[in-house]
Amino acid sequence: RWPEPAPRAGRSRLLVLAGPTAVGKGTVAAHIKAHHPGILLSVSATTRTPRPGEVEGEHYFFVDDAEFDRLIASGALLENATVHNTHRYGTPKAPIDAALAEGRTVLLEIDLQGARQVRAAAPDATLVFLLPPSWDELVQRLVGRGTEDEEERARRLRTARRELAAQGEFDYLVVNDEVARAAEEVAALAR
Ligand code: 5GP
Repeated sequence: RWPEPAPRAGRSRLLVLAGPTAVGKGTVAAHIKAHHPGILLSVSATTRTPRPGEVEGEHYFFVDDAEFDRLIASGALLENATVHNTHRYGTPKAPIDAALAEGRTVLLEIDLQGARQVRAAAPDATLVFLLPPSWDELVQRLVGRGTEDEEERARRLRTARRELAAQGEFDYLVVNDEVARAAEEVAALAR
């Protein structure tokens, strides 16, 4: 008789989507939000300023540094991190707890530092790492979106190399070869 398999970490309705810069996490998360209204896409707090078209409470909760400090001090954030050495981002805890209590699936689209903190705080969270089809493809996407200058691109690519090395910490790897396909694969990973 075979022993019972050990209970697996990483199989719950709390889904974390991370991956290197420019891999398309935001696009995949937006696709899931549009096609799976039952899944709650967590809205983060951030200290960066809104971009044109971004709506308070829908894309982010835009706060200043003092307010961000208060959120941390009051224990309101599940995780928080400074991303790309610039702005602070954090995941509000209360909406997640409420949605999970209702039996809903919750999706967090956050960076690697945040994913590690969620793993520590909620060991049964499902961690999904989004991969580019290839390294060259990732470089092309970063250049193609044209939102960073040469120096910033080089910096982000160094970060991306480091982040790709962390894929072994994740429960699932999903290749973002085609947004709709990858999004459906991610959405199907929630229990
Ligand atoms: P952007 O400023 O372009 O919207 O997001 C920049 C980066 O911040 C993305 O890599 C995104 O995954 C990450 N991010 C967004 N919200 C959070 C959060 O709540 N926590 C963490 N750790 N990272 C976040």
